Amino acid sequence: MSETHQIAPHGGTLVNLLADDATTAALAAEAANLPKLVPNERELSDLEMLAVGALSPLTGFQGEADYHAVLDSMHLANGLAWAIPVVLGVTEEQAHQLGSGSVALLPAEGAAPIAVLRVSGTFKRDKAKEAVAVYRTDEEAHPGVKAVYDSGDYCIAGDLEVISLPVHDDFQNYRMTPAETRAEFARRGWTTVVGFQTRNPIHRAHEYIQKCALEIVDGLLVHPLMGATKSDDVPPDVRMQCYEALFEGYYPKDRAMVSIFPAAMRYAGPREAIWHAICRKNYGCTHFIVGRDHAGVGTYYGTYDAQQIFEEFEEGELGITTLNFEHSFWCESCEGMASPKTCPHGEETRISLSGTKVREMLRNGERPPQEFSRPEVADILIAAMQGQE
Ligand SMILES: [Zn+2]
Repeated sequence: MSETHQIAPHGGTLVNLLADDATTAALAAEAANLPKLVPNERELSDLEMLAVGALSPLTGFQGEADYHAVLDSMHLANGLAWAIPVVLGVTEEQAHQLGSGSVALLPAEGAAPIAVLRVSGTFKRDKAKEAVAVYRTDEEAHPGVKAVYDSGDYCIAGDLEVISLPVHDDFQNYRMTPAETRAEFARRGWTTVVGFQTRNPIHRAHEYIQKCALEIVDGLLVHPLMGATKSDDVPPDVRMQCYEALFEGYYPKDRAMVSIFPAAMRYAGPREAIWHAICRKNYGCTHFIVGRDHAGVGTYYGTYDAQQIFEEFEEGELGITTLNFEHSFWCESCEGMASPKTCPHGEETRISLSGTKVREMLRNGERPPQEFSRPEVADILIAAMQGQE
C-alpha cells in the first residue's frame, strides 16, 4: 500500500496549493485588501487543476520564460516535458497596474476570493505564435485558437496560494483530486492503471478499447473531462448518466472507476494528448489510451498525429506509457468487436456509423444498433435530445 509502488508525479512532487486552515484565514484577510482579478471559465479550471496538483510540478500560472520554452520546444525552461502553456490573461492596463505585489483571484464578480497570486511578472502574450505552436493553425474558427484570441493581450504570472477550490454543485461523488485517486488505487491494490480521457458518451468502440487496455493492467480510470467544452458537445450531466449506465451494466466494479477530470478542453489534438497524459500521470495512472484524432476538432489534425507526437520525446521522458488504439467496430464476420488491425474483412461486414448519422438516429428517437451503442446509453441520449426540442 505504500506510495513507492505508485508512479511518480510529473517532476517528482505532487503539488498541493490549498492552504491549511490556519493559513486560510490569514490569506482571506490579506485577499480582502488586494487588487482583484476575475479569471474566465478556462482559467478557473486551470486554477483548480493547479491547486490539486493535476498540473504538477506547476505551482502557479506560468511566466514568460516557460511560456516561450513550451511553445518552442514542448519543455519548461528547466527542461521538463510540457506541452501547453498554463497562463492567466489580463488586459494591457491590468498588466501595468498589477505588475508587482500580490493579486486576489475571484471566481466571479462579487464572489469571495479563492486564491492569492504572488505576482512574479507580466508579459505580452504572443497569440499568433501560441496558436500555431499549440493548435497548428491561427484560424479563429478553431475553438482553442478563438479562446486564445478572446483572452487578454498580456499574461500575469506567479505562484498561487489557494483559499478554496471553485465550488461545483454537481457530481460531488465523482470529484477526486490526484491525491485521492492515488489513495483509491492503492486501496484497490492497483499497481498499474490505465487512464481514459473522454468528452463524449462512450459507445461500444471506446468500451472495447478500454477493455483491451484493461486486459494488461490492474485497473481502468474512466476520466471524463468536465471543464468547458464546445456548446455542441454532449452536456456533462447527460454524459455522466451514460457513464453510470455503462458502469452499472457492463464494467467490473473492482477493476474500473469513473472520476472527473476538471480540465477545460483545448481541442489542441497532439499537444493536448501529451498534456492529458502528463495530467493522468499526476492522478496516478501508469498507462494512457491515445486513440485516433485524440482531442481533435474538425480536420485540423491528422488521424495519427496525436499518437506520433509522443515519439518526439526521449524514451521514458514522460514517464507514463501510452497505448495507441485504432478505430474499432463490430464485425459481423468476426462476430465481435475488432479493428483494422485484427479484422481481415471488408467494410461491408463492419457496423460503422458516422457521428452525424448517430445524432440523426437519436434525434428521431431511434436506437443505433446494439453492436454500436449499448441500448441503455442510446436511451439516455434519445431522452436528452428529445428534451432539447
Ligand atoms: Zn472481421
